[in-house]
Amino acid sequence: MATTSWFPTQVYRAALGARAVAALNRQLLREIRQLRLDDAAGRNWSARNYPGGFTSYASASRLHRLSPTFAALERLLGRHVRAFAGALDFDLTGRRLSMTDCWANIMPRGVVHGLHLHPLSSISGTYYVQIPRGSAGIKFEDPRLDRMMAAPPRRAACRASNRPWVLFDARPGQVILFESWLRHEVPPNPGRGERVSVSFNYGWF
Ligand code: FE
Repeated sequence: MATTSWFPTQVYRAALGARAVAALNRQLLREIRQLRLDDAAGRNWSARNYPGGFTSYASASRLHRLSPTFAALERLLGRHVRAFAGALDFDLTGRRLSMTDCWANIMPRGVVHGLHLHPLSSISGTYYVQIPRGSAGIKFEDPRLDRMMAAPPRRAACRASNRPWVLFDARPGQVILFESWLRHEVPPNPGRGERVSVSFNYGWF
């Protein structure tokens, strides 16, 4: 008799691994702060949809095509995306995963990014640029929760793999990748200072 696990939900986490990651992060931070000054459409959209924070999601969502710094980040993310696609056993014969969207996010203290997923994409992720001590992490939800209406709750001390959600802490220089259908959120940011990240989508079609 044996119980085995099937249908895993995989999340990838690694250090970006660039030689000059501190310099890259400084330059990303400079450009993202400048973008917030220049991007009036992004500030307006954020005021309505991202209260207290700034995101270029709806206004400048192809930063890898606009800035050599973001293009360098895209190149550095390549091997991570390939490794994750390998872990998922994606068959990409004759195709390749390519970055379709890349945008910046600034979350001051108290700002929240509610539960969401990334439609029309295959792999999504975030790269952390500046994470003040005590900043919020990223929380993933079991994608089967809506089918569990009759399931008993899990024990408080249950195995990590059986929990209905998992929280990864955010660290500067770290990349997190997940399949785009996986629902996630950034809980209210309790950290002092601005939590700054770059999010992106990859597609194979
Ligand atoms: Fe997201």
